[in-house]
Amino acid sequence: MTQDKYAQVRLISKPENMLKTIYTACRTCYSADSPLNIYDCDSAQDEEKMLKLISKVVSSGHYSTIEHIQVSFAISNISRACSHQLVRHRHMSFSQKSQRYVKEKGQFDYLTPDTIENNSELKQKFDDFMGKISEFYLELTDAGIPAEDARAVLPNAASTSMVASLNLRELIHLANLRLCTRAQKEIRILVKRMCEELIKEEPWLKDYLVPKCERWGFCDEDKSCGRMPVKGQ
Ligand SMILES: Cc1cc2nc3c(=O)[nH]c(=O)nc-3n(C[C@H](O)[C@H](O)[C@H](O)COP(=O)(O)OP(=O)(O)OC[C@H]3O[C@@H](n4cnc5c(N)ncnc54)[C@H](O)[C@@H]3O)c2cc1C
Repeated sequence: MTQDKYAQVRLISKPENMLKTIYTACRTCYSADSPLNIYDCDSAQDEEKMLKLISKVVSSGHYSTIEHIQVSFAISNISRACSHQLVRHRHMSFSQKSQRYVKEKGQFDYLTPDTIENNSELKQKFDDFMGKISEFYLELTDAGIPAEDARAVLPNAASTSMVASLNLRELIHLANLRLCTRAQKEIRILVKRMCEELIKEEPWLKDYLVPKCERWGFCDEDKSCGRMPVKGQ
């Protein structure tokens, strides 16, 4: 796990027999044989053969076959701005640290965007401002205001943690959108780390967990970063 100011991410759960499960799902659609026989057959021991079929099926848009794979990540050290972007993905499941039940006891942790970090004068002002917010938050909670109401003053920069789970189809979609340079740096780093954690265990996934332009061979963004030809140009 990388230790820096950005997201700390660990893959905490994934099926052991990922490739074989997807292969069985793919073959079941086109075979007179039962799923159990397919799962136990010789081809289901041959990684190259399984990958060839999976690639063919997935590139034809037959995505239900990869929905059988569920993975979970333990994520910490992300800002509330970043977590808010992540929770927009509707096929994911989340359990996030509560600002109602977990009361801040002193200065809350926060993430400083690089653009502010790199400007020493603004960085100082930013830190002072976070300090003032913290003082007011503590004034509110000391006066008996419940944490669920005092949190109204906490900023987007406040750090949070969560367990996030999703199936492989949604992870590929998440990577396609959030590894794109048009996504904000913090969520790009978070999603890159989620993908890297899984690729360490399942290297064959490196061709799927890519920005959308690599999947499609073109860019559909107005402000293209230039690494791929722009659609229609
Ligand atoms: C660079 C970038 C900038 C963004 N800027 C903004 C912004 O300014 N304002 C803003 O509000 N959001 C913004 N978003 C969020 C964006 O609009 C999506 O809400 C978010 O990316 C989730 O994507 P999604 O809906 O494709 O994916 P998911 O919610 O992960 O769903 C996956 C797929 O399931 C299908 N699906 C899910 N739910 C439905 C449904 N109800 N009906 C039909 N199909 C469905 C769709 O095919 C969808 O692509 C931004 C996202 C990115 C990547």
